[in-house]
Amino acid sequence: MGGGGVDRGPTLTLHPVDGESMKTHRIVTIPGDGIGPEVVEAAVRVLRRAQEIDAGFTLEFEEHDGGAGCYARIGTALSVDSVQACRDADAVLKGPVGLPSARLADGTEAGLLGGILRLGLDLYANVRPILLWPGVRSALAAAPGEIDYVIVRENTEGLYLSRGRGVGNDDVMTDTLMVTRRGVERIARFAFETALKRRGAPSDGRTRVTCVDKSNVLRSFGLFRRVFQEVGEAYPTVEKDFLYADAAAQALVQTPQRFDVLVMENFLGDILSDLGGGTVGGIGMCPSGNIGENAAYFEPVHGSAPDIAGRGFANPCAQILSAAMLLDHVGETGAAGLIRRAVGAALSDGTLVIGDAGRPTGGGRAAAEAVLDRLGP
Ligand code: NAD
Repeated sequence: MGGGGVDRGPTLTLHPVDGESMKTHRIVTIPGDGIGPEVVEAAVRVLRRAQEIDAGFTLEFEEHDGGAGCYARIGTALSVDSVQACRDADAVLKGPVGLPSARLADGTEAGLLGGILRLGLDLYANVRPILLWPGVRSALAAAPGEIDYVIVRENTEGLYLSRGRGVGNDDVMTDTLMVTRRGVERIARFAFETALKRRGAPSDGRTRVTCVDKSNVLRSFGLFRRVFQEVGEAYPTVEKDFLYADAAAQALVQTPQRFDVLVMENFLGDILSDLGGGTVGGIGMCPSGNIGENAAYFEPVHGSAPDIAGRGFANPCAQILSAAMLLDHVGETGAAGLIRRAVGAALSDGTLVIGDAGRPTGGGRAAAEAVLDRLGP
């Protein structure tokens, strides 16, 4: 594979400079279930330290209950007041939620927040950077910087719009995949704009958006591809690329360095981003943002990992890197870069080592300490 540097964020500018006023960002945190509280605690410590070092902004945290535990306590995965708090906040830092044991009458999970927050706040863009960090061993024959792409997953329609609406009986059950022109227009625009802010694909430096679909089989995906092409006409400098989702799964394993930005329907994005995580040291390395016009939340790609909850194995990097994305979102790009550089430094110098199972070899707490140490006093 060809070489390429890892982008650890923009150059740090320390604040405040003369005459600049101190900004306050109101952050809602939702610790969630399973390993959620451990990784959110680590990320909040990192955010507080980054705030102290940058010294140009203040973070005001407000913690809210949410997820399967919340469902067991109050009968809903997120209270109406907490939804409003997420709407009113400058950004939300959410831990993973859900426990396989917490089920609704229809058999689906009771503790998930995707339907409530993504649909409720119209957070249409799910941004999932897949980056192989220095010091992290890939399951593929890839070096750091050779895997560096972003999956832009449509977040409000597609197959998951059918959540809770499946129709049928004990013998037949149908869920419907819906794609709308408006939905594809805005996610395609978001993907092209994301590509314009990046440095292109690691293999050739070309700015490229790959449309991933199954338009060879389903009409809904045909509409997705057509609208993507129409929107793409406004972006003549961005190369357009097309792959069917099955071929994309193979290409993400065999030639990940060709990818820059990929845009796809909700369900496909859910699956393929975990595949991407598997190539960069596990989903414990993968942050994400759920972004709309008026609200946003940031969370790891992974779930609540009940198999390792409370055992100290959880990798906090995905949650910490989600916190860096949150800082970017509220305009604190200097502090965001500081966090990414600290994660990169800890991984490069071997104080933070990710083992083959995607777990930090010294445990989650030591991993967080390594990042905090590299951030500075
Ligand atoms: P999962 O992502 O929780 O775990 C999959 C595997 O990855 C497990 O072996 C786990 O130990 C490992 N893993 C995950 N995060 C890790 C980390 N930070 N460090 C080390 N290893 C890690 O997926 P699952 O087991 O299918 O789901 C568990 C629960 O999470 C379910 O209730 C599911 O619905 C929920 N879930 C929630 C979200 C979310 O909140 N956004 C996303 C996915 C799954």
